[in-house]
Amino acid sequence: MKKRVVVALGGNALGNDLEEQWESVKRTVKVIADLVDEGLQVVITHGNGPQVGMLQTAMSEFSDSHSYAKPTPLTVCIAMSQGYIGYDLQNRMSAELEKRGRNIPVTTLITQVRVDKEDPAFLNPTKPIGRFLTEEEAKKKETENIHFVEDSGRGYRQVVASPAPQEIIELDTIKTLLDDHHIVIACGGGAVPVIRTEDGLKGIDAVVDKDYISAFLAKELDADQLIILTAVEQVALNYMKEDQEWISKMSVEEAKAYSKEGHFAPGSMLPKVEAAVQFAESKKGRETLITLLDKAKDGINGKTGTIIYS
Ligand code: ADP
Ligand code: MG
Repeated sequence: MKKRVVVALGGNALGNDLEEQWESVKRTVKVIADLVDEGLQVVITHGNGPQVGMLQTAMSEFSDSHSYAKPTPLTVCIAMSQGYIGYDLQNRMSAELEKRGRNIPVTTLITQVRVDKEDPAFLNPTKPIGRFLTEEEAKKKETENIHFVEDSGRGYRQVVASPAPQEIIELDTIKTLLDDHHIVIACGGGAVPVIRTEDGLKGIDAVVDKDYISAFLAKELDADQLIILTAVEQVALNYMKEDQEWISKMSVEEAKAYSKEGHFAPGSMLPKVEAAVQFAESKKGRETLITLLDKAKDGINGKTGTIIYS
């Protein structure tokens, strides 16, 4: 049986605009093709911060300037971002595999994640999304469900809740595709958050963190390893301080203790370490690797990166 891995791609794997995305993705797919060459079965997840921000801005400027156009829900923007990021990844991944003489189908799946309406995250929306608005613009858009906060003197931004994933709706489809030897791109941008209603699933304004959903997906797929590819080669203690120390391996207990001591920044490394722990402690033998995108192959061969194990 092939070793199954979930590879989570961070912002630097995708670039900040369409041109950058095309260039970044070409580099990213080489990294992933190397993992395939190493004999791994790969599922790809990815973030969408800049992309969903751009879509939101475009769609809200459209509805502001055209009286016939209604506002576009955040969930639709997330689905759009899954589509066009998946398109680039799928297109370049297939080209790279073909170059290597491999005939492997690559499939992007629009993925929804059920969240809990009672999740405490909904009482305290923290994740800023979209463009900066003036106070007047923000007041006009504010509703019972749409909230804005002032962001460090730069203007007002919408904030949404970041609830925990409860259920990946398309999980069985992902499994079927994997059984059929596809490389699957799923849960982009943390997946589209939905809640169950009498009328079926309904989108809800929220953003599920891509690191947490990647750990959740890895658990559900019974993956052997979660690989979080980002902009640093290793996780550090005392990051950017004089006594900075790179970590090659840490147990779940050590990771929890370091987190408590405040070694990992809340908006960036902390969610990765927490996701790493969630996966590693969910079953014996499961481990997470955090490393630089370009070092993925060295990382899986134990030459670099940070391993979190239980
Ligand atoms: P991604 O787009 O991959 O999610 P993030 O920028 O959110 O990337 O998180 C990765 C970043 O976390 C690193 O580039 C680094 O600047 C930062 N970081 C914060 N604390 C640490 C730490 N203790 N060790 C390593 N990197 C850290
Ligand atoms: Mg991040």
